Amino acid sequence: MGRAFVYVILGGGVAAGYAALEFTRKGVAPGELCIISEEPVAPYERPALSKGYLLPEAPSRLPSFHTCVGANEERLSPKWYKEHGIELVLGTRVISADVRRKTLLTAAGETITFKFLIIATGARALKLEEFGVTGSDAPNVCYLRNLADANRLVDVMGSRSGGNAVVIGGGYIGMECAASLVINKMNVTMVFPEPHCMARLFSPRIAAYYEEFYKSKGVQFVKGTVLSSFDFDSDGQVTSVNLRDGTQLPADVVVVGIGIRPNTSLFEGQLTVDKGGIKTNGKMQTSNASVYAVGDVAAFPVKLFGETRRLEHVDSARKSAIHAVASILDPQKADEFDYLPFFYSRVFAFSWQFYGDNAGEVVHFGDFSGSRIGAYWVSKGHLVGSFLEGGTKEEYDAIALATKLKPAVEDLAKLEELGLEFALAI
Ligand code: FAD
Ligand code: NDP
Repeated sequence: MGRAFVYVILGGGVAAGYAALEFTRKGVAPGELCIISEEPVAPYERPALSKGYLLPEAPSRLPSFHTCVGANEERLSPKWYKEHGIELVLGTRVISADVRRKTLLTAAGETITFKFLIIATGARALKLEEFGVTGSDAPNVCYLRNLADANRLVDVMGSRSGGNAVVIGGGYIGMECAASLVINKMNVTMVFPEPHCMARLFSPRIAAYYEEFYKSKGVQFVKGTVLSSFDFDSDGQVTSVNLRDGTQLPADVVVVGIGIRPNTSLFEGQLTVDKGGIKTNGKMQTSNASVYAVGDVAAFPVKLFGETRRLEHVDSARKSAIHAVASILDPQKADEFDYLPFFYSRVFAFSWQFYGDNAGEVVHFGDFSGSRIGAYWVSKGHLVGSFLEGGTKEEYDAIALATKLKPAVEDLAKLEELGLEFALAI
């Protein structure tokens, strides 16, 4: 049993949706392109799962957030794929790949052959078991990576309203889910090993700004320790969370967001890996010329930093996918991917954006007792990163441009004094 396509996208997440749109814009013939996804639904904007999807009132539901609405582009429904002659093979896991023979084998036993492959397998959530704690499969322990996880979290929250939620992890999932749990009227405690939330990105001062607001909403923070075990009732539900420092927290719901691992395993030993991902050149092409990698799974050269990075964010997934398609269809014309790293989040009424790299010295600006704060990062005498909470579109555009241009900064005190004006003047 088998089928053959010119182009195959392995994975049906954010990157796959944006790649499909680009293929149709550049002119793919019906029957040439296939997307294989373990998920049972067409590509969607994954960020919705920790935001609109979790709202108690008028929550977002598919089909409203199929790609590519997140970039104000067309919404690609299953009908759209059909109309464009794109084969959507859903609910199907690929269990092995042979890049030399250009074949993929599905769990259903089908062999799919490609001329060009785009690996868009994303990442999986790290499990507590990988840190020596058992209990991830308890009915009230929730992870959040896909639609099935989000549905489970919605069900569990709905059946325990007013109860205690323990959030494990102080990163993106932890912060966004804690906000959603509060909005769903849960009593929330966040537990993480670092001294402050979002430790990989935020300065202590930025973190304190958000933590103070979370505290005003009743969220408690337990920092500098990790989970050691759960207690269960006779139905196997977690009843409390035991921490390594001896604290015991009662729990009706546990949400775990302790990081991810890129889904590279099908290609290990066949393609070069770097930074935990599949290494590509500036055309998103891997060590095999017929195979490209995009999104969370790709480690690509970030020109601005002069080094290879793997980024776990939606803008990078969208743009790297579009770039890979352009490189495949017109290899002579395609430039090297010149990407400005962009991360954002929205929690409660907050909304921040970050561009570049949080390396070097941080200079804060804005009103830390008000609603607008910001920061610049300066490394080796140049601006390399910018953060802004509560900006307008023009202001975000200004910090993005300033970061891209990497202007020289000689006087940090002057930069602090100028604050946002520094970027607006560029
Ligand atoms: P994914 O979107 O994860 O897609 C991977 C796809 O590959 C999935 O469909 C998966 O089932 C499939 N797959 C994997 N292995 C196989 C296999 N062997 N066979 C078949 N199919 C396979 N980023 C932001 O910048 N801002 C945000 O606000 C934001 N919010 C987020 C909220 C949540 C809850 C999550 C989980 C992530 C969020 N992100 C956000 C990150 C962003 O969603 C990811 O960076 C993005 O989805 C990566 O796209 P991708 O296509 O590389 O991978
Ligand atoms: P993150 O890497 O953002 O955060 C994981 C957090 O968990 C870190 O604070 C980490 O600490 C901590 N941690 C690690 N191990 C333990 C442990 N044993 N006990 C308690 N805490 C622990 O990953 P998330 O899981 O939050 O997010 C998953 C993915 O989803 C990421 O790719 C993220 O980019 C993406 N996402 C992005 C969003 C956005 O961009 N707005 C929103 C939601 C998700 P340490 O740093 O010490 O390892």
